[in-house]
Amino acid sequence: MPEKKKNEKVFGTSSRDDWKTGVNPEILKMLRSRGLLSSEEYISGILGGDRNILARAITLVESSNPAHFDLAQSVVEGCLKYSGNSVRIGITGIPGAGKSTFIEAFGTMLTGMGKKVAVLAIDPSSANTGGSILGDKTRMTKLANDPDAFIRPSPSAGTPGGVARKTRESIILCEAAGFDTIIVETVGVGQSEIAVSTMVDIFILLLVAGTGDELQGIKRGIMELADIVVVNKADGDNKKKAEMSASEFRNALHCFPVPPSGISPLVTICSAKEGTGIKEIWEAVRDFISRVKENGYFEKRREKQAVERMHDFIKDYLIYSFYRNDEVKTCRGQVEDLLKKAEITSYRAAFILLNKYFKK
Ligand code: GDP
Repeated sequence: MPEKKKNEKVFGTSSRDDWKTGVNPEILKMLRSRGLLSSEEYISGILGGDRNILARAITLVESSNPAHFDLAQSVVEGCLKYSGNSVRIGITGIPGAGKSTFIEAFGTMLTGMGKKVAVLAIDPSSANTGGSILGDKTRMTKLANDPDAFIRPSPSAGTPGGVARKTRESIILCEAAGFDTIIVETVGVGQSEIAVSTMVDIFILLLVAGTGDELQGIKRGIMELADIVVVNKADGDNKKKAEMSASEFRNALHCFPVPPSGISPLVTICSAKEGTGIKEIWEAVRDFISRVKENGYFEKRREKQAVERMHDFIKDYLIYSFYRNDEVKTCRGQVEDLLKKAEITSYRAAFILLNKYFKK
C-alpha cells in the first residue's frame, strides 16, 4: 500500500497534486453559481486539511440531490487512495448510556496524545423523521472546540442504508484530511449497530449497570457485534453495581461462540464523567487492533466491508438511475394516479415502471 503511506503527514499540507485533471471554466462557473466547488478544489482542500472544505464535502456527500451525486463520487474517489490510514472505532449504547460524555473524554485524551480525531454520528431516527437527535454539537463542547478534533452530526435525512453509505464516504474524506482516529457513534436500537459494524475496525458497546440493558443487549444480538463491552458510570455508589454487571457480562459472553476476529470480547468498566478507565479502554483498542492485524482479520474485515460497500452502492445507484430515467419520469404520475384509483395493484404499478426502465 505505498499510496496509503503517503497520507501519513497530510494534515496541514496541500502539496500533492497527482490527482489534478484541469477544470473546464464553464463547468466551474456553473458549480460556483450553485455554491459548489470543483472536485479538484474539494480534494485539494481536504488533502490540505482544510476543515471548512472537508465539512462542505461531507455536506455534498450527504446531499440527496441527484445533481450532486456525480460530483460527490469524484471527490470520494479522489480521496480514496489517501484513506484507510486510521483506526475506525464504532461506539454504541442506548440514549443516556453516556456516549457523548465518553467520546468527549476519550477523544480529548487522544488529541492530547497527538492524535487527530473525527467523530461521525449515525442516527437511524433521522432517516424517518428528518430531524437528528444526535445533531447537536453542544453535546461535546470541549472536543468540538479542539483544533485536532472534527465533529460531524448525523446526516439529517435519507434511507437507513443511504445514511450508512454517506457515513462510510465521510470516513474516507476524514481520513484523506489526515484524521487518524475515526469514531462512529450510533444510538443503540438494533439496526444501526449492524450498519456501523460494517464500517469500523472495532466496535465498543457502552452500557450502564442496573438498567436492564445487559439482558436487552444480549437478546438483540448486539452483544455478538461487540469487540469491547464497557459498563459506564462506574463511579460513586454505582461503582460496585458496575463491577457486578461487568462480571455478569463476562459470564454471559462465555456462552457465546468465539467471534470471527478470534478474540473474545473484553469487558471493562469506566466513568466517562470522572475520566477513570478511559486510558485502559484505549489500550484495549490498541491491543485488539494489533492482534487482528497480526492474525489477518483486520484486512479481511476491511476487504469484506469494501465488497459490502459495493453492493450498497449498486442498490443506491439503481434507485438513483431509475428515478432519473426519462421514461420513468414521464409515466410515473400516470401510474401513480391509476394506483390511487385502485385500478391497478402496487405490484403491477411497480412492474409497469420497471419495464419502462429496463425497456422490456
Ligand atoms: P448519551 O445519550 O449516550 O450520549 O449520554 P450522555 O453522554 O448525554 O449522558 C447521559 C447522562 O449521563 C448525562 O447526564 C451525563 O452527565 C451522565 N453520565 C455520562 N457518563 C457518566 C458517568 O460516567 N458517570 C455518571 N455518574 N454520569 C454519567
